[in-house]
Amino acid sequence: MTQTHDALQVLRSRGYRVTEPRKRVLKVLAEAQRPVSPYEIQEILQQKGEYLNHVTIYRVLDLFCSLKLAHKVLLGGGFVRCTLGAEDGCHRFVVCRQCGALREYADKALCEEETAIAQEFGFRAEQHFSEFSGICSECMASARS
Ligand SMILES: [Zn+2]
Ligand SMILES: [Zn+2]
Ligand SMILES: [Zn+2]
Repeated sequence: MTQTHDALQVLRSRGYRVTEPRKRVLKVLAEAQRPVSPYEIQEILQQKGEYLNHVTIYRVLDLFCSLKLAHKVLLGGGFVRCTLGAEDGCHRFVVCRQCGALREYADKALCEEETAIAQEFGFRAEQHFSEFSGICSECMASARS
């Protein structure tokens, strides 16, 4: 709940209106237990008797991603709400390949290292994305028992 509330504050402070579609998509992301696609977001809303068209959902997700309120997960696809807030460094994910559990983290040193690599190639780094997969502690525990 606080997450949704904070996100609304971020929208307002950046000069964006808190519209009904934005509120609805935020709520779906906040309640989802795993990454959701725009199509799934539409379905979840429909179950609640609410309707948003695809174009609107995509536009809202684009805005949320640009404000770092949400992220697109590369492994498996779909969108998740941001769980970090204003931490230093780009937001990255580790994903459990068995159950899909997701952990978001930010590491400024990693960013600096990648920026240095880019510089060696004559690039200016702007944003870093990365994900790696593995097995989460719960899946490891249940495999052992
Ligand atoms: Zn994030
Ligand atoms: Zn970075
Ligand atoms: Zn797992």
